[in-house]
Amino acid sequence: FLLFLFYLNEPIGQLLHAGSRLQIGLAAVRRLSEVDEMQAEPAGDPQPCAVGQDAARLEFSGVRFSYGPELPEVLRGVSVDVPASGLTAFVGPSGAGKSTLFALIERFYEPTAGRILLDGRDLAEWDLADLRAGIGYVEQDAPLLSGTLRDNLVYGRPWAGDEEIRDALAQTRLDTLVERLPDGLDTQVGHRGTFLSGGERQRVALARALIRRPRLLLLDEITSQLDAANEMAIRDVVTAAAKTMTVLVVAHRLSTVTSADRIVVLDNGIVRAAGTHDELVASDPLYAGFAATQLLTGERTA
Ligand code: ATP
Repeated sequence: FLLFLFYLNEPIGQLLHAGSRLQIGLAAVRRLSEVDEMQAEPAGDPQPCAVGQDAARLEFSGVRFSYGPELPEVLRGVSVDVPASGLTAFVGPSGAGKSTLFALIERFYEPTAGRILLDGRDLAEWDLADLRAGIGYVEQDAPLLSGTLRDNLVYGRPWAGDEEIRDALAQTRLDTLVERLPDGLDTQVGHRGTFLSGGERQRVALARALIRRPRLLLLDEITSQLDAANEMAIRDVVTAAAKTMTVLVVAHRLSTVTSADRIVVLDNGIVRAAGTHDELVASDPLYAGFAATQLLTGERTA
């Protein structure tokens, strides 16, 4: 039943969206409330993944978007290719449109012009459930479910085996936490995970996404509230994940993305520059300015 709810929940969000992130947020809260009331059921038999296992390739071609006919354009012709596998980071000032791009990839909204292609096929042509089955999304303050740690980890892939769970725990450095917990994986995490620290919750959310084995992993600002040790742990996980899946991150802190395979600088709805950290420091004054302030002082972008 959990699996059913998982696949169902995104279309519900789609129906409810009607153009505002607030509504998506409400839909998400509603989904969680429903899940809260449920008892987790034992994992079922292994089931085939709905989509291929290969890392996804994305192409944005002249993508324009506004949140409403009266509202200004947030994306004003974004064109960028994201090859299969590897780590691509989106950086840029607040309001540049980074999270909006993620929302379009998940098809919470449709571009008003231009196209987004996944493996050469327009997102609009994908079956929505198939599309989202291949995408892992982790956001800042990712919500957990009430229930056990195990329930939280296998939500989205209830048939995950112990080895897969152990792997994800080790990668996210949660294995030591599990050893300390009185009931291990069967420990209750409290109402929406409040028995865990913010950093632990964030790592559980990431482990959950990894266990799903998405082809495309979207990470929106997941390290901004973590301390240095947690941030480094997550950075290692993300680097490892990018070997087998396509990972897109939105980050305010450049320190988390300097080693990305490519960095896309978004500014006021357009791609201002793209390249590696070293290339951008040499070629783009905006990026070089961020780098100079942040990497020297540890400050965040505006
Ligand atoms: P930040 O780094 O601050 O998260 P961002 O680059 O991710 O910013 P977006 O969240 O994509 O930027 O927002 C881009 C613009 O779209 C902003 O001006 C924002 O206010 C606006 N916006 C975002 N969501 C909505 C919405 N649901 N309705 C109307 N405008 C929105």
